[in-house]
Amino acid sequence: MNGGILSSAAEDGPSGTGAPAWQNGGMAVEDRGAEQLPTSEEGWRARLTPEQFHVLREARTERAFTGAYVDTEQDGLYRCAACGNLLFDSRTKYHSGTGWPSFTEAISPEAVDLLHDTAHGMTRIEVRCARCQSHLGHVFPDGPREAGGERWCMNSAALDLEPRTGPEG
Ligand SMILES: [Zn+2]
Repeated sequence: MNGGILSSAAEDGPSGTGAPAWQNGGMAVEDRGAEQLPTSEEGWRARLTPEQFHVLREARTERAFTGAYVDTEQDGLYRCAACGNLLFDSRTKYHSGTGWPSFTEAISPEAVDLLHDTAHGMTRIEVRCARCQSHLGHVFPDGPREAGGERWCMNSAALDLEPRTGPEG
């Protein structure tokens, strides 16, 4: 058993160099971009479960330790539950102890939009899906230092885990 969840990173911080993680798996990544997305909130409401709608379209936060992916260690890729956009690689997921699935980085900078959120008297960085603008969660600066120091705190209801099935190389 390898005790470390995160492989040691030789470089500090998000340097932006090198191939993004999603190019390394050697697996075919399906692009669902051609799919028609709802153009109204009523369309989203019809498409999503009530909990997904609350989180994704009303920017609510699911209760801690209630989400499907809090403790999941399955190898795979996390997509936006609203539109299928690729968001996170399970290799960057770690146990933060907060009660929400936590990642050290998004799968690529282009996958997400970051917004300043001043709701509830706090200044936080909100994470939205870059394709459909659905709310996903927040980024906090208290993540594992060896992995860049960021904690991407996501709602399980905003994510869909697609198990990795391709040959691992
Ligand atoms: Zn989306």
